[in-house]
Amino acid sequence: MEFSPTAAWCTCPGPLIIAGPCSAETEYQVLKTAEELSRSGKVGVFRAGLWKPRTHPGLFEGVGAAGLPWMKKVKESTGLLTTVEAGHPDHIRLALDQGIDMIWIGARTVVNPFMMNEIAGILENRDIPVLIKNPVYPDTELWTGALERIYHAGIRKIVAIHRGFYSYDKSRFRNDPLWELPIELRRRMPSLPMICDPSHIAGSRNYIREVAQAAFDLGMDGLMVEVHYDPDQALTDRQQQITPATLDEILSGLRYGEQSAAATPPDRLEDLRRQIDRIDASLLDLLAKRFGIAEEIAMIKQSQKLNILQLKRWEHVLESRLRQGKLLGLEESFLKKILEQIHKESIRRQSEYLND
Ligand code: PEP
Ligand code: MN
Repeated sequence: MEFSPTAAWCTCPGPLIIAGPCSAETEYQVLKTAEELSRSGKVGVFRAGLWKPRTHPGLFEGVGAAGLPWMKKVKESTGLLTTVEAGHPDHIRLALDQGIDMIWIGARTVVNPFMMNEIAGILENRDIPVLIKNPVYPDTELWTGALERIYHAGIRKIVAIHRGFYSYDKSRFRNDPLWELPIELRRRMPSLPMICDPSHIAGSRNYIREVAQAAFDLGMDGLMVEVHYDPDQALTDRQQQITPATLDEILSGLRYGEQSAAATPPDRLEDLRRQIDRIDASLLDLLAKRFGIAEEIAMIKQSQKLNILQLKRWEHVLESRLRQGKLLGLEESFLKKILEQIHKESIRRQSEYLND
């Protein structure tokens, strides 16, 4: 399948940057955020959710079609292109009638092949860009299936958005990035432009920069970032929204497209260091996860009146890991020291946890 590169339909300089609030809340909030975003010249498209998919009823479900004229005003006053999320054919009909430039399909809609068929039907042969988020679950087939449905409707301006995946394992991220899935999608559909939504992966302002850089390091073509002029007052996804000034500052510091610049061959040392950085970040995530589980085990040990130190279990852990380490070429005395330190810290955390 051949797709139009984003450069063919979006006149944004550099990477495709889509930014704007999680939800459109008021006309003032939409226009003020858009106006501040447009000043940097780095943002090409303004996003806002009008129909919000919420887990529980009774929460703010968006302003709906009432927000469409606000998006029109954004376009008139800032020149930014506009996009909204569509979860239903009616949303697409309304949005296109009101001059919205592109549609994005959310992670909860992409999981539903019935709805993707309905949406593909209404998009049939319309010449508008469609952005398709990964499904909530880590399933490459569901993602490619949704992309194929839109492609078969005659749409060629398609962009995949990587927004991370739901996971039972708790980590510091709201949605697990599972970078191997967008890498696999790129392998299967090499001409498909792909951008990253670091906001829904991070779930917190603190990790937006790191996730965005990791996406650029993997050669992604842009970002979709949630931005609000006053994030602390946001009605949805408050913790992960940043201000336009913070976005500008983050974008200015990111390395983008350095590897593809033919004049400067990729710096092998830098490249390897970035790989080490990512591996270390994963090691730390895993360690934190391991200690979290150890604390849960502490509770069970207490209720079953077991001592914290279980010698037989520790012997098994040590022996099996040393055997695996040997197969991987890790030096035994080095690995033993690390395992002992981890075990010692687990025991310390378990007793501290029970004493609290
Ligand atoms: C959003 O972008 O506001 C949104 C609801 O995202 P997702 O579909 O990725 O959860
Ligand atoms: Mn959101």
